[in-house]
Amino acid sequence: MKIRFAVATTVLSTLTALAATPKPNILMIVGDDMGYADVGFHGCKDIPTPNLDALAASGVKFTSGYVTGPYCSPTRAGLMTGRYQTRFGHEFNPGGGGQGMPVTEKTIADRMKAAGYTTGLVGKWHLGAEPEMRPMKRGFDTFFGFLGGANSYKDAGAYLRGDEPVKEIGYSTDAFGREAVAYIDRHKGQPWFLYLAFNAVHTPMQATDDRLEKFKEIKDTQRRTYAAMMSAMDDAIGVVIKKLKEEQLDKNTLVTFISDNGGPVMKGVTINGSVNAPLRGSKRTTLEGGIRVPFVMSWPGTIKPGVYEKPVIQLDLTATAATLAGASTEQFEGVNLLPYLSGEKKEVPHTQLCWRFGRQMAIREGSYKLVRYDINAIPEMVGKNEVTPFELYDLSKDIGEKDDLAKALPDKVKELQDKWAEWDKLNVPPLWGGAHVQKKDNDGPEPGAKAGKKKKK
Ligand code: CA
Repeated sequence: MKIRFAVATTVLSTLTALAATPKPNILMIVGDDMGYADVGFHGCKDIPTPNLDALAASGVKFTSGYVTGPYCSPTRAGLMTGRYQTRFGHEFNPGGGGQGMPVTEKTIADRMKAAGYTTGLVGKWHLGAEPEMRPMKRGFDTFFGFLGGANSYKDAGAYLRGDEPVKEIGYSTDAFGREAVAYIDRHKGQPWFLYLAFNAVHTPMQATDDRLEKFKEIKDTQRRTYAAMMSAMDDAIGVVIKKLKEEQLDKNTLVTFISDNGGPVMKGVTINGSVNAPLRGSKRTTLEGGIRVPFVMSWPGTIKPGVYEKPVIQLDLTATAATLAGASTEQFEGVNLLPYLSGEKKEVPHTQLCWRFGRQMAIREGSYKLVRYDINAIPEMVGKNEVTPFELYDLSKDIGEKDDLAKALPDKVKELQDKWAEWDKLNVPPLWGGAHVQKKDNDGPEPGAKAGKKKKK
């Protein structure tokens, strides 16, 4: 009798606790090829991003927020799996011929789904187009978007809803905002995970006339189009955040935002008019300009607004989401960031972060960074298919990677080389592409690059 009563009380209190703290929704937003300097919360002057700024102000802005590579598909693979993509051969952008994220890898959507979430993807996939590699075979209940790495913003051609071609797209960035709102509306009564993966502001450079008009003061036509495209993404994020507030879901939704890599600013990449200042380098380099990105996490009422300066990486967003959902975190290489943001954990989330991209590499430990990068980042060396020698920078004093300390601190160079080599032991050879810096069939121009080079008017 007494025991039965105790059990009933325990069950009741557990149920009450569960009802009081429903699992938070997760909204993971990704921008594409954004310049580090091109958001208001990093000081951008010519392109207002009021919605992104409000999101940053409502949460934590990470000033040393990284992604695991300098290219679209590899970093998205890292985000989806929570693992360095070099652990499973996803080092470069997949081309055709069945290339894509190995089906042996479990995605965050698989994990969230197993934890009772409904899962949706709106936007760019870029992790394989074969039937078994498509989003709805990788843990997503619903999908609206396209499978490749770049696409026309206006031509409905490649857009799918599930596996069905979409007849009309309007302007795709606007459509992604609308689809995300509709997703939230459909699932507001249950825990949901939405991956809102923009292709903005990747080439092809296409914007709507009203937004181009808004930026007519910008004389450089590429920068003007870029501004109009950024503005469209900011608008789309704005409608989604507004929806969360209208449904009173904002205090029960973790929102994260990153760019998938840095702005492409050097010759040979899909140049879009972005700016990475004060960082040096570009998309496709392991310099800061390729891998340090705008990085925000917001959860009003739970995460105290502020700035976090210790190095973090997009793998942490995956780990945070899974932890909050009570999902499996097995094999993850990122960490749940919430205890670090609350101050419960005082240490650094990562003693070191490492990168491998063909013959390029980097390791950051404390404020030191050892890097060997695509020599095309040096204007006088453009056109050479080579990497630089090892260079050493102290990012605390030299965020622009200008004063190479390698000769002055040979012991530090050796120490970091050894630590990187230790990390590299767990990597596997790339499943496609080669070790070249530039090779057209892997880490060269992405699909859509040609369209981006077309003359506008
Ligand atoms: Ca990208």
